[in-house]
Amino acid sequence: MRHFAIVGSGPAGFYTAEALAKDFGENARIDIIDRYAVPYGLIRFGVAPDHQSLKAVSKRYDKVAETETVRFVGNVTVGSDVTIDGLTALYDAVILATGAPHDRKLGIPGEDLPGVVGSGGFVGWYNGHPDFAGLDPPLDGTHAAVIGNGNVALDCARILAKTRAEFEGSDIVGHALDALERAGTRTITILGRRGPHQIAMTPKELGELGHLDQASPVVEAADFPPIEADDALEPGQRKSINILREFAATQPDPAKPKRMVFDFFAKPLRIEGDGRAERIIVERTRLDQEGRAVGTGETYVVPASLVISAIGYSTPPMPGVPYDDKHGHFLNDHGQISDQLYCVGWARRGPTGTIGTNRPDGYEVAEQVKTAMPPGSDGGKPGGEGLAALLAERGVEATSFDDWRSIEQAEEAQARPGSPREKFVNPSDWMKVLGRPG
Ligand SMILES: Cc1cc2nc3c(=O)[nH]c(=O)nc-3n(C[C@H](O)[C@H](O)[C@H](O)COP(=O)(O)OP(=O)(O)OC[C@H]3O[C@@H](n4cnc5c(N)ncnc54)[C@H](O)[C@@H]3O)c2cc1C
Repeated sequence: MRHFAIVGSGPAGFYTAEALAKDFGENARIDIIDRYAVPYGLIRFGVAPDHQSLKAVSKRYDKVAETETVRFVGNVTVGSDVTIDGLTALYDAVILATGAPHDRKLGIPGEDLPGVVGSGGFVGWYNGHPDFAGLDPPLDGTHAAVIGNGNVALDCARILAKTRAEFEGSDIVGHALDALERAGTRTITILGRRGPHQIAMTPKELGELGHLDQASPVVEAADFPPIEADDALEPGQRKSINILREFAATQPDPAKPKRMVFDFFAKPLRIEGDGRAERIIVERTRLDQEGRAVGTGETYVVPASLVISAIGYSTPPMPGVPYDDKHGHFLNDHGQISDQLYCVGWARRGPTGTIGTNRPDGYEVAEQVKTAMPPGSDGGKPGGEGLAALLAERGVEATSFDDWRSIEQAEEAQARPGSPREKFVNPSDWMKVLGRPG
């Protein structure tokens, strides 16, 4: 018998469990450990609440969790409740699937002013992440800015632009829905250091901006290279650029009061304001021969009382685990960290790709584990039983997948009309549902 611990119950953790369960069958027991009693990582706390069809991928993960040989162990934080050394003593292999929850810093003056928030915080706020439920982003101003040119920046901008009615069918948390409805936001500027050809935005997400009830996209035709240059782009990117070109060719709808302004070739230099963010000082850029943004010396002001930075994430280091400071994830060779230690997903390769990109990660690491400790071999480790004893000794109240089902049912039962659920945002509320002190 082999015992495996996967730390993190997001997509990468679940795909790894799926692969190991298939490869090892009855020859292994797999524990998916998460710091929260609620599983699925960014499927719950990151993916936009108005993109419910994407969240349905969790149904596949449910099947994995319900496999006889797999257990979900919630409410256990690795690093504090149990250390990595503690886990490697109990399990044959430990696979870190802890994601990349820390916002990358802008590294410019003024980024610590009130009103400047990371996308991780903002997204966590509207998705009911316990760490950010109290974020209370300032929504009283007319101008907001999102720094970054990826899909997360688009998510943030779209959420700011939507009306209450447009959130019908979503699972945005009530506190965010109410605050967004009261918001005074009229202009949302999306700042990118480079041009339209360099965006990391996908056609579906961009296309949505053309169909919002109260907001129109605004794009400058002069920002595009000659149309022939689009031929060199890969098809998906060409589609995105076509959408942007359409936006540039269309007058904003005068009947819609909100504007989503794409400000390309724009490098934020500093954020200024009297005790809170009021404006971003931006330098106009151009692309050099290597396609890098270089400042032109020309500066201008973008008003913004809410500034959301969406420029990427990093994995927090963990004691005893080698770390790649430059790239902000665990140091690894194709997912292997050391003899017993592996990593997958964003903790392995940084915050890129889609949900599905984490699948080959999980399968590759499962293959390596299988080679190192073939099915049928025995490592003599205590596995889950050993973990249960250790947690009991430390007074840590672990939760199960059935517990999650109870929380899920309670969330569904208190949903507002048209919404699949109303999330409990505090871990103590999850424990209350379970009738435990927490
Ligand atoms: C705002 C946003 C929107 C996105 N939208 C889309 C989209 O529309 N479509 C798409 O395809 N992809 C989207 N993605 C990308 C997708 O969410 C990621 O590819 C995926 O979630 C990464 O999976 P992961 O398992 O590596 O990390 P995560 O999903 O972050 O999971 C990490 C898990 O580890 C747990 N954990 C962390 N530290 C510990 C610890 N010390 N102890 C125990 N548990 C721990 C966390 O609680 C979490 O459950 C989005 C990402 C973001 C940030």
